[in-house]
Amino acid sequence: MERVIFATRNKGKMKEIRMILDGLGVPVVSMEEAGIAAEIDENGKSFEENAVLKAKAVMKLTGETVLADDSGLEIDYLNGEPGIYSARYMGEDTSYDVKNTAILQKLDGVPEEKRTARFVCAIACAFPDGTVLTSRGVMEGMIGYEIKGENGFGYDPIFYLPECGCTSAEISPEKKNELSHRGKALRQMKEQLRRLIPLASGD
Ligand code: IMP
Repeated sequence: MERVIFATRNKGKMKEIRMILDGLGVPVVSMEEAGIAAEIDENGKSFEENAVLKAKAVMKLTGETVLADDSGLEIDYLNGEPGIYSARYMGEDTSYDVKNTAILQKLDGVPEEKRTARFVCAIACAFPDGTVLTSRGVMEGMIGYEIKGENGFGYDPIFYLPECGCTSAEISPEKKNELSHRGKALRQMKEQLRRLIPLASGD
C-alpha cells in the first residue's frame, strides 16, 4: 500500500488526523491532495453509517484504501442535536460564530447539570478487497456560557471540558488530540490497521 486517502476536505480535521496517524508507515493524503473532488451524500442514520458510506464511495472511485470519519456534537438538552447534522446545522455555509451563538441562546438559563454534551467520532477504513473496519471515540463535556478560545474549529469555542477548566478551543492541539473523540477513534483505528497490515507500520 503506497498511501491512504482520508476522505475529508476539512483542513482543521486533517491537521489533527496527520498528527495522530503519524508513524503509521504510509502517507495519509487528503481528498484535495489526491485530486478527488467527489461530493458524497451523507444520508446514513448514524455516525458509523456515514463514515462507512464515505470511505466505501471514495474507495470505489479510486481503487485505493480510504479512511473516512463522521463526527458531531450531541447536546443532551437539545435531544442529541445537532448530532449527525452538525456540519449542516443552520446551513453548511453559516459561520460557527452564528451557530455557536444560537446554541448558547437555546441553552440560555439552562442550569449546569443539564448542559451535558459530547463530541462523537466514527472512523471507517475501506479496503479495495471489500474489507471495512470501524472505530468510535467520544469526548464528554458541557456547553459553556460564552464563546471562548481560538484553537480547534467548529463548536470547540462553546464546548467546555470540566477536567481542563476551559473550552476545547483553549487547549493546545496536542492536548486536544489526547482527549478528543477523533483522537480516540483514530488511535483505535491505527491499532487495527497495524494488526491487519504489519507492512504499513514498518514492523
Ligand atoms: P463531518 O465533517 O460530517 O464529520 O461533520 C463534523 C462536524 O461536527 C464539523 O463540521 C463540526 O461542526 C462538528 N465537529 C466535529 N468534531 C469537532 C471538533 O473536534 N470540534 C468542533 N466541532 C467539531
